[in-house]
Amino acid sequence: MKPLKFFNTLTRKKEPFQSIHEGKVGMYCCGPTVYWYAHIGNMRAFIFDDLLKRTLKYQEYKVRSVVNITDVGHLTSDEDEGEDKMVVAMRREGKSAYDIARFYEEAFLKNLVQLNIEPFDVYPRATEHIPEQIALIKKIEANGFTYKTSDGLYFDTSKLSAYGKLSGQRAEEKQAGIRVEVGEKKHPTDFALWKFSPKEVQREMEWESPWGIGFPGWHIECSAMSAKYLGVPFDIHTGGEDHIAVHHENEIAQTQAADGVLQANYWMHNSYLQVDGGKMSKSLGNLFTVEELEAKGFDPLSLRYFFLGAHYRSKQNFTLEALEASQKALHRLIDLVRGWDQPALEGIPYYEELFEQAVSDDLNIPQALAVVWEMVDSDFSSSAKAVSLLKFDEVLGLKLVDYIAKPLEITKEVQELLNQRQKAREEKDWEASDRVRDQIAELGYLVEDSADGQRIRGQGFSLHFFKKQDK
Ligand code: AMP
Ligand code: ZN
Repeated sequence: MKPLKFFNTLTRKKEPFQSIHEGKVGMYCCGPTVYWYAHIGNMRAFIFDDLLKRTLKYQEYKVRSVVNITDVGHLTSDEDEGEDKMVVAMRREGKSAYDIARFYEEAFLKNLVQLNIEPFDVYPRATEHIPEQIALIKKIEANGFTYKTSDGLYFDTSKLSAYGKLSGQRAEEKQAGIRVEVGEKKHPTDFALWKFSPKEVQREMEWESPWGIGFPGWHIECSAMSAKYLGVPFDIHTGGEDHIAVHHENEIAQTQAADGVLQANYWMHNSYLQVDGGKMSKSLGNLFTVEELEAKGFDPLSLRYFFLGAHYRSKQNFTLEALEASQKALHRLIDLVRGWDQPALEGIPYYEELFEQAVSDDLNIPQALAVVWEMVDSDFSSSAKAVSLLKFDEVLGLKLVDYIAKPLEITKEVQELLNQRQKAREEKDWEASDRVRDQIAELGYLVEDSADGQRIRGQGFSLHFFKKQDK
């Protein structure tokens, strides 16, 4: 195995990575709550998971990755208050909770494909693991960490001395910092393991349990399903930074209380994606989905390229201009590699060394991308560059294999249209020029005008194109 270093939220240090089983890594990634489309902030989290997995594989580990599908139990507040997000969606859409969950799960899976995120190995759904969750709660109860209130069975965080380890806050400090209605809870940090179905609301998703009819709390699914598919302890647990203080702290507490072990050895968190320098929200109209960006003429892989430009632990600011710049850079890369010779036998060790150093140093992907560009623009033979770039793309995931040494093939029909458009432009007949451009677009090609004349981009990369009115 080749060396890797990761920043571990648990120790707040960059540490050499050591897997539990030689050559193998188990990773669990907190997945989507399927009550609505994933937005591009969510996708930043899954791109991070993908880069982590690809880097582990690059360094010769065998990886088993699990991403859960939260289809029950995630309330509108992370503090066990409010309504189940699925119930809110039922009211909004007038559909059954299961239909909603499956619909948005499908949409999520499609987003993964669009962004060339490698499939995870397991996609467990919370609703399909109720017996496992009940069994785990029973263990926690038997070990004396629970109490009952009128609305559910709760975890007593004061009973666990290590509580607060992940966020680095001692329980008392956390208690003081949390401004929530304690209600019948004994301490503000206590959380629901099992919630009773509210009498006044008809719930479609509810189950019998030793404590009464109801549904699991949000955190228990991740402790139960990670243990089922990876065992405990496992190697790496990921999620967005918003999960550190509550969700992951509580997952750790549950597993510790049930099995007396640390759930996972490395905890890695991606920082947030901001939009126009602030928070993304529907009311501000700046909450984009991958589909919305596609409709604006962006290739989803341009979004992937955009994400490669920031380190996962840095905030990243999204603007449409920045995405346009990413798309241009990716197009430039594709244009260049199309003209390269077929890959040779040997790559360029100097750049391969630099690339590996970057990715293995806590996934320094922006640095790795800088190495890519330095190599692409270097004087080495294109056939040697091709070999190295194909290797690098195992991590970057930009599908460059489709373009390296593959000049664009243009049909006779398209070539004729290009000639017509050229003539129209020479005659300054812009209307005709635009008309022909649209005809070419219908055939799946995008024409751009550059200083050297018309340039064309082919099918399979940019199926969509900028129309002036979209900008
Ligand atoms: P959710 O569907 O809300 O459970 O979120 C799925 C994943 O996306 C979690 O790991 C979140 O921490 C992460 N996430 C949510 N919003 C953002 C954002 N703006 N930037 C980066 N990650 C996010
Ligand atoms: Zn989780």
